[in-house]
Amino acid sequence: MIRGSCLCGAVRLEISGTPRSLSYCHCSRCRKAEGVFAAVLIGAADDLRIVSGEDRIRRIEPEPPWTHRRAFCDGCGSALGELQSGAMYVVAASVLDDDPGIRPTAHLNVESKPDWYAIDDDLKKFPGNYVAG
Ligand SMILES: [Zn+2]
Ligand SMILES: [Zn+2]
Repeated sequence: MIRGSCLCGAVRLEISGTPRSLSYCHCSRCRKAEGVFAAVLIGAADDLRIVSGEDRIRRIEPEPPWTHRRAFCDGCGSALGELQSGAMYVVAASVLDDDPGIRPTAHLNVESKPDWYAIDDDLKKFPGNYVAG
């Protein structure tokens, strides 16, 4: 079981099973929502359970052409990721309290990263979006 919580502790979540991927997203939206970039944990939607604070989660649906919902705690502002996204969950790894058991494999949307941020590891780099599967 992988546990996660927001900064104020109102929102708690649990992930069962093995996540499918952990990656870094450098898109302009993740940059603004989560910092310089976002570490994103993805797995099967049924494996994610919101343990508490469902009523504290605000969800902002994106304006086209954007497709990624933003979910965050209305008490502390912690970015939670998209949470449910079709058949998958997309959780901001920044809220994890436990080790997800897998390591990042790729950088996504590298074309959108700010020039002042340099990637200095050997992970795969994708110019646009790519969901490992
Ligand atoms: Zn919170
Ligand atoms: Zn992103």
